[in-house]
Amino acid sequence: MRHLLSFLCIASLFSCAPEKIDADLLIKNGTIYTVNTDFDVTNAIAVKDGKILETGKKPELELKYNFTDVYDAKGQTVLPGLIDAHAHLYNLGISMQQVNLRGTKSFEEVIERVVAFQKEKNVAYIRGRGWDQNDWEVKEFPNKTLLDSLFPDTPVALSRIDGHAMIANAKALELAGITTKTKMLGGIVTLDQTERRNPKLTGLLIDSPMELVFASYPEETITSIKNALLDAEAACLSLGLTTIHDAGLNKNVIDVIDHMQQKDSLKMRVYAMISNSPENLDYYLTNGIIKTDRLNVRSVKVYADGALGSRGAALKQPYSDQDHHFGAMITPQEDLKNLAKKIAAAGYQMNTHAIGDSANVAVINAYKESIDTTKNMRWRIEHAQIIDTKDFEAFSKNIIPSIQPTHATSDMYWAEDRVGSKRIKGAYAYKTLLDKAEIVALGTDFPVEKVNPMHTFYAAVARKDLNKYPEDGYRMEEALSREQTLKGMTIWAAYAGFEEKEKGSIEQGKLADFTILDRDIMKIHADSIPKTKVMATFINGELVYSKH
Ligand SMILES: [Zn+2]
Repeated sequence: MRHLLSFLCIASLFSCAPEKIDADLLIKNGTIYTVNTDFDVTNAIAVKDGKILETGKKPELELKYNFTDVYDAKGQTVLPGLIDAHAHLYNLGISMQQVNLRGTKSFEEVIERVVAFQKEKNVAYIRGRGWDQNDWEVKEFPNKTLLDSLFPDTPVALSRIDGHAMIANAKALELAGITTKTKMLGGIVTLDQTERRNPKLTGLLIDSPMELVFASYPEETITSIKNALLDAEAACLSLGLTTIHDAGLNKNVIDVIDHMQQKDSLKMRVYAMISNSPENLDYYLTNGIIKTDRLNVRSVKVYADGALGSRGAALKQPYSDQDHHFGAMITPQEDLKNLAKKIAAAGYQMNTHAIGDSANVAVINAYKESIDTTKNMRWRIEHAQIIDTKDFEAFSKNIIPSIQPTHATSDMYWAEDRVGSKRIKGAYAYKTLLDKAEIVALGTDFPVEKVNPMHTFYAAVARKDLNKYPEDGYRMEEALSREQTLKGMTIWAAYAGFEEKEKGSIEQGKLADFTILDRDIMKIHADSIPKTKVMATFINGELVYSKH
């Protein structure tokens, strides 16, 4: 009898409670912005095998699934993994292999930072950048004496903040072949002439002789590339980024990225634009698109012109603060057109850096000749910074503005000096670009700007710098709404990389990439957005960064 009862019990258990499905992860108690078409907010996510199984309410998901892991978001804000649509991941990593000397108050502090850096990194060649003797107590150029005694066998080369001067130790000078006899046009090898018959190198180089030092730098190795990528990745994960569109890479670096991702040693997803070099074009346009779960190679980064700050951006009319000066094209119109045809034939995207209004219209014209409007080509203009009002019409889902909101708040102090009050109306015109194109892809251009995507969010919605200046925002008619900004950093950025079916929103079947924040950036006072901290970052359902 007892046997029968227990048998009935077990049988009824099986029939009453539906069998639960095994799943890997439950994220519960979140304020989850799904960024789906209805912009729904939900409270829990079920994840299995790196993908989203289902979203909904926690009790329902718990009834249905057996979770191996549970992450309690404790009411915090959960976003689709953030994407930076224009940045330089590898260059960030490279800059992290150098001693950061910005803000040093004395040469002694420079030395302290170099020693601390070397203790941690133990590199074969110490490079640094960012000192400025005008910020020091003793406002004099340094000499190499101390560096020689501390690093007799390790070359050390430390560049000034503007890149026009360098202090190098004896080892670095020796490797570069620089002696007291070295003379170069366009620069100075500084000598200590206290003993007139026996001049000595001070280690200070101005301009052209620095080239000799650069030429003696150790070559990139697989290990040096890996180290750079890992450092950059750690910085990005701690700020909630899960995909980076790297705006210009060579094959050797892309190969290392792919290899590391396959081995799971690099978690970051990378949409890699190839740099416009003959070797890259030959290889990639011939071999076609490369797409894995974490890597997407299907675009060419081209430079149409230079930058506005240095008056290198190509303008239709002369600069307002320099007579007869128009800036210059880096790639002339005809070359852009030919390149466009070649890229279109290979089924790649063309992503062209264009700052000035003349460069932008040149790119638009080149694109128009090669874009088949019946096709989904999603070519991009990187920066789309200064646009002649009549050229806005050209932007569409096939000529996508890929823009960096912090550029507006970094340049706002002097941009109008360069272009005047009329042209400024078409500059940093993010809302106008969105109205025309229906989407914008948002990025930072780090390491030119800071990595933090919350700065992008703040600059896009409040159009203020980190000092909350200007009080009412800079030309607020061009601000984006919070919803538009979040889309620009997720689903639209994904679209600009042909990845909107796999990422950019929290929906069934998509990759389980999430960014969890300590406050609700969709609701808090705009001025506290930059203070937002990332609590956790997930890629493929794996916790890849946690604040605790
Ligand atoms: Zn860039």
